[in-house]
Amino acid sequence: MATETANIDDLISDFSRFYILTILYEGPAHGYQIISRFKKRVKKEVSPSLVYPFLQQLEKKGLVKHTIKPVGEKKKKVFELTEKGRELTTVLFKRFAELVSIAIEPSLYVCAHCGCKVYEGGYQETIEGEELTFCCMHCAHSYKETKKLAKKVTRSAKQT
Ligand SMILES: [Zn+2]
Repeated sequence: MATETANIDDLISDFSRFYILTILYEGPAHGYQIISRFKKRVKKEVSPSLVYPFLQQLEKKGLVKHTIKPVGEKKKKVFELTEKGRELTTVLFKRFAELVSIAIEPSLYVCAHCGCKVYEGGYQETIEGEELTFCCMHCAHSYKETKKLAKKVTRSAKQT
């Protein structure tokens, strides 16, 4: 049981590291800013004992650099991603985005007209007894127009 909890903590702290990277990706920040932005968005405290060593690790690897800047009356280390750090973070984000899209794929709708993916909501309409999902009502409209046109074409084809 104890090890299980430890594993979950590890997982969450890895997520925390990932999130710290997203904060740095947005622009330079000092340690306290990272901690407060984290709290604001994740709605969870992140321990300085995780943040500062992580920043040090990143710095050692040349992914982050810091400059000393006056913040109010104090001087603080302002951290920012290096070019290498930025590249690596972009790769991580892409990988993460792929994972997320795989995870949410079953809940995706595909617009019956244009084929674009609809993450939520969308526009439902029953056309000729078939319940269809569109990205928007304009696509539903175009879909119906196309169907009408197709019917006209078959009708006129039968007439001749
Ligand atoms: Zn559409």
